[in-house]
Amino acid sequence: MGICSDISDAKQAAQQLEERAYYDSLTGCPNRFLFMERLNHELTVAKRTQQKLALLFIDLNRFKDVNDTFGHQMGDLLLEQVSLQLSSCIREEDTLARMGGDEFAIIVNRVDQGAALERIAQEIITRLQEAIVIEGHDIYIGASIGIAIYPDDAKETNTLLKHADMAMYRAKQQRQGGIAYFHPGLNDAVEKRKYLETRIRKGLGQDEFVLHYQPKVDISSGKICAMEALIRWRQEDQTLVLPNNFIPFAEETGLIVSLGRWVLKTACREARTWIDVGHSDVRVAVNLSAIQFERMDLLDNIRQTLNETGVSPKNLELEITESVVLENIDRAHKLLDELAGMGVSISIDDFGTGYSSLYYLKRLPIQTIKIDKSFIRDIHTDANDAAIVSAIISIARDLKIKVLAEGVETEEQLAFLKNKRCTEMQGHIFSRALPFNEAFSLLSGQMPSRVKGA
Ligand code: C2E
Ligand code: MG
Ligand code: MG
Repeated sequence: MGICSDISDAKQAAQQLEERAYYDSLTGCPNRFLFMERLNHELTVAKRTQQKLALLFIDLNRFKDVNDTFGHQMGDLLLEQVSLQLSSCIREEDTLARMGGDEFAIIVNRVDQGAALERIAQEIITRLQEAIVIEGHDIYIGASIGIAIYPDDAKETNTLLKHADMAMYRAKQQRQGGIAYFHPGLNDAVEKRKYLETRIRKGLGQDEFVLHYQPKVDISSGKICAMEALIRWRQEDQTLVLPNNFIPFAEETGLIVSLGRWVLKTACREARTWIDVGHSDVRVAVNLSAIQFERMDLLDNIRQTLNETGVSPKNLELEITESVVLENIDRAHKLLDELAGMGVSISIDDFGTGYSSLYYLKRLPIQTIKIDKSFIRDIHTDANDAAIVSAIISIARDLKIKVLAEGVETEEQLAFLKNKRCTEMQGHIFSRALPFNEAFSLLSGQMPSRVKGA
């Protein structure tokens, strides 16, 4: 007599459990846990055979954008495709793992043999620069790779991984992403940047950013014609950080794209409040940085945001700097024509600090140039600045482009600009940038002020 039972179900379940514990369910790659075990093992082998080993830490450049734009399902499909691309770049003896989110890592064994390492890293960059087609969409994801080498950069697992990660952050700072090798100097600066980057991402998730609004005043009527949205970062400890302290960094790391989307959406949503109560001629002005301008999906994003928020294009104004326009004039021409065709206004910010070519600008559909505040500041002490400002105003008038003077603070500056027939102004003499509620009160005439609501 005997008892017989079918254990194939139990065996299958055990196998599934093991797979779940060691492998990433989405891509089928080893997970972080198995990766660390393998890395330990490979380090022991490398030590015994006195060979070098490289650890590649890979982060996708625009994964969050894909998730934000197309949703998580597309994000998942993309990760699967990326892992296939990555595994086709490595050799049989190397290990690829998904470390979580959009991060992957690769162990490249025996790197002292030939140029395998450089070739693999380069191949990955090239592959991920090309479009990945998912459900008919061409997605340009791009990758940044950090490389640390055993035993030169670290002798044990955790430090090697940390150093590859730091190198990856360095690679990310190079505007187009790319490859970076660890070197000891990275330790300090990178640590700080990494911290700031994580903080900005977290801040976006936790509503730490706010927009303040500064009026632009039409001098002939004395009325507010637009409100410029200026971002501020209210950190956990309530300190208010001004944009010059984080925008340049956000531009370097590409975070400006998510931040910029947030700004556009919030500005339109808030503008809707004043449009709805009757200030229907008051535009909201949004600053765009070069990186946003270069992105192919800018136009779609603007259309979508206007649709979602129900704001008419005539209520939106975009501020760009002249260098952004003139560095790629053909693309700017096409993009600005489309925007102008929709009814969106364009102004050139900080005019005078770059090429200052009114001739070029005239060929583009630009409504307004904003003379940089550095010229206005010294109008009364520096004869050159005064001459430059008058010249800009008079040429612009002849070319039928509107001129706004930024940073007007004193009665003297106001008088000078009026005298030169500058049509629009902005500056502390009228109002500082105000939190939304105060800006709304100002617009509605509920605040004592020298400007009138529209
Ligand atoms: P900007 O677009 O040229 O904005 C004008 C800056 O001058 C603002 O500084 C404003 O508060 C300040 N300002 C206005 N009137 C006066 C005045 O009478 N006197 C003086 N001394 N300053 C005045 P803020 O808010 O610190 O912004 C600095 C820069 O950060 C902006 O320069 C803009 O380039 C950038 N920025 C702000 N928000 C955003 C954003 O949402 N996206 C992007 N890409 N850049 C932004
Ligand atoms: Mg501006
Ligand atoms: Mg400006």
